[in-house]
Amino acid sequence: MSVSIKSEREIGLMREACKIIAKVHQDLGKELKPGMSTLEVDQMAEEMIRSFGCIPNFKNYNGFPGSVCISINEEVVHGIPSADRIIQEGDIVSLDMGCIYKGYHSDAARTHAIGEVSDAARLLIERTRQSFFEGIKYARQGNHLHQISNAISDYCESFGYGVVRDLVGHGVGQKLHEDPQIPNFRQDSRGIRLKKGMTLAIEPMVNAGTYEVDWMDDEWTVIARDHSLSAHYENTVLITDAEPEILTLTEEERAQMTEGKERQV
Ligand code: MG
Repeated sequence: MSVSIKSEREIGLMREACKIIAKVHQDLGKELKPGMSTLEVDQMAEEMIRSFGCIPNFKNYNGFPGSVCISINEEVVHGIPSADRIIQEGDIVSLDMGCIYKGYHSDAARTHAIGEVSDAARLLIERTRQSFFEGIKYARQGNHLHQISNAISDYCESFGYGVVRDLVGHGVGQKLHEDPQIPNFRQDSRGIRLKKGMTLAIEPMVNAGTYEVDWMDDEWTVIARDHSLSAHYENTVLITDAEPEILTLTEEERAQMTEGKERQV
């Protein structure tokens, strides 16, 4: 396994790729409405990504037909956009996508509530997001990778959720998927030591029920085996010699985080 350390120049390009996908996530999230097909969402995403001069990196990746993975309710990840799949009021919709800017990849995921959703669904989305932030408290030079995995896992399991094990996060850079693999569930080993300049896509996939998943007949869509709801939250993160830098947040998301911190004090 070789984990690439990015140069300042490379980090600059990744910042740009990540800033763009953060903006696309924000804009696309606002467009989601009951009655839309997931194909419409995909076409919108592709247009937005290309309007920034970027390439959607999921498109044709191992033959994936869309630019966005759109996974609804019990679907965990890798839902294929389709004209026949219509978003309904009360659904939770996970969007996972990235783009390539001057040869460098970004990768991020968000789960959106469509209109009024159940309290259970809302909490699952919020806690899945929070589990990422619990994890990256350990995303610091000198720490070990699996400290992140364990923190995500412990937080999610404290609510009785199942953290998906068959799919993991990953390094990201000149390729969409680079070393190392980043599990979201508790590990026996410590994992690699984190170093400044590593860029990691950390992405908890969390089921309200069992952690076990199945693949649908389309060979892409992953669903919770017990058909419980599933949420996904992902950012591309840069390891530095201080706090980690979350590259795929918008200015607004950053501001909200700072407000949150101030409120906690
Ligand atoms: Mg990813």
